[in-house]
Amino acid sequence: MDIKQNYREETNLEPYAGDDERHPSYSNNYVRWLEQQLILHGVVGRSELFKCACGSTNLQKNKIHNSIMCNDCKTVYANI
Ligand SMILES: [Zn+2]
Repeated sequence: MDIKQNYREETNLEPYAGDDERHPSYSNNYVRWLEQQLILHGVVGRSELFKCACGSTNLQKNKIHNSIMCNDCKTVYANI
């Protein structure tokens, strides 16, 4: 599967920005699209979008315990 080809077919846009083929850089649209794909396919955990019950997104991950703590209200969420 060529993800760039998927992008072209879905959006009719080129994933690269600029005209310099030797030093291609990805367009902002492509990067945004790619992020969406990663979230949809579970490559990026849903914790990236997680919001605490208090409404805060000021969260701290604990990789060892696989948990997330809210820095504002100190609630700990496990296994997200
Ligand atoms: Zn909170």
